[in-house]
Amino acid sequence: MYTKKIEDLSSAELFERALLVAPGGVHSPVRGFQSVGGHPIFFKSAMGAKLKSVEGDEYIDFCQSFGPLIFGHQDPDVKAAVLNMMDTLWTSGTCEPYSLRLAEWVKCYSPSVDKLRFVSSGTEAVMSAIRVARGATKKDKIIKFEGCYHGHVDSLLVKSGSGLAGESASDSAGVSELLAQQTLVLPLDDEQQFKECIDKNKSDLAAVILEPLPANFGLLIQRPEFIKFVTEYAQANDVLVIFDEVISGFRTAFGGMAEIFNLKPDLVTYGKVLGGGLPVGCYGGRQELMDFVAPLGPVYQAGTLSASPLGMAAGHAQLKKMAELNLHQVLEERGDRFQKAINKAIQKNSWPLEMVRFGSLFWFVEPQGQPIRTISKISKNHKTFFMHFFKHLIEERVFMAPNGYEVGFIGYAHTDEILNLAAEKIIRAMGRTFNAL
Ligand code: PLP
Repeated sequence: MYTKKIEDLSSAELFERALLVAPGGVHSPVRGFQSVGGHPIFFKSAMGAKLKSVEGDEYIDFCQSFGPLIFGHQDPDVKAAVLNMMDTLWTSGTCEPYSLRLAEWVKCYSPSVDKLRFVSSGTEAVMSAIRVARGATKKDKIIKFEGCYHGHVDSLLVKSGSGLAGESASDSAGVSELLAQQTLVLPLDDEQQFKECIDKNKSDLAAVILEPLPANFGLLIQRPEFIKFVTEYAQANDVLVIFDEVISGFRTAFGGMAEIFNLKPDLVTYGKVLGGGLPVGCYGGRQELMDFVAPLGPVYQAGTLSASPLGMAAGHAQLKKMAELNLHQVLEERGDRFQKAINKAIQKNSWPLEMVRFGSLFWFVEPQGQPIRTISKISKNHKTFFMHFFKHLIEERVFMAPNGYEVGFIGYAHTDEILNLAAEKIIRAMGRTFNAL
């Protein structure tokens, strides 16, 4: 048996033990350090914008649990709401008032949502929305875009292997090729290919799904005209449009990118910010589509812990506080100052890099003379650059997700003071990275 207690182990020792009980030692692959090298740092606690490692080191955290924590760790108001609910109702598997309160908030903010259903993750939300689209249209095919991630839903773990539009090939072992063939993959930022694909396949196409702000293969900020074209052309051809706003929903605006672009998708999926750091997802849309869902309609979808009162309370407290503080504006201003400070230093030093940002989401990437909107435009050296950069960020005690294609998240806990300090550290880390490369 082990001689040391878990509480006494270093990150390296914890990882060694974790490897014996979990594949790759992790419970989600994005937590592993496989693309940056070395073993993961294990964090034992967090407060505000800071994470504390088991070694006792404090890191400024821009991973923020990959997005749910828009106020940072342990926000006192979100925490009070959860603690209060702990004294009231954890889970009952029955009807309760707390999901109604959050559902009415979502409906009020999201013009495309007449009705919604809470689930426990973004993946579940997407999987259910696709099922509704297929059930309602009685068609099977789906279009997705290269570089957009929609959770580990079988039929969406698919990308264009050869880079040819409309081809499908499974991205993960274990996904049936029959299912993969139902997913057509297209490049972002290309109206012509999209039009041709719709024209050719519309009689079989249930839906097109997209991240209207793709933020899972870096931050690929799209032209509004492209998103508008996709939405309107699909809808004009009886193909449903699903906006996957699991990252962008509530974070970019209360009504997400649909509000920013003034578009009305048929179905929309949310998660992350909506749950205030607890496991909450949600799909919703037009009433006639959502009425296909059981028990009203024939599309079955259920969940033991769906609409957990704890998650409903955390989400409600977080959204309410965001509205009270006019948070989007605050984060836009802070993000702008942060970005300017970093990009100024980059320019001064002529480093081949830039910080791109949309609201409270950001990403470092090698500039290509024009905005990077497709994965094919990302520098082939990006992975190597990030591997070195990450090492120097860690030395500076700045934590970003351990993969150069993940975005950074700014939250309310990142005060100007913390962002100024973080900018100094990031700039030093860049300097060391480019000196070594
Ligand atoms: N959709 C998008 C756009 C996401 O970014 C993610 C997760 O990062 C998901 C779906 C899946 O959400 P979850 O990890 O909660 O299952």
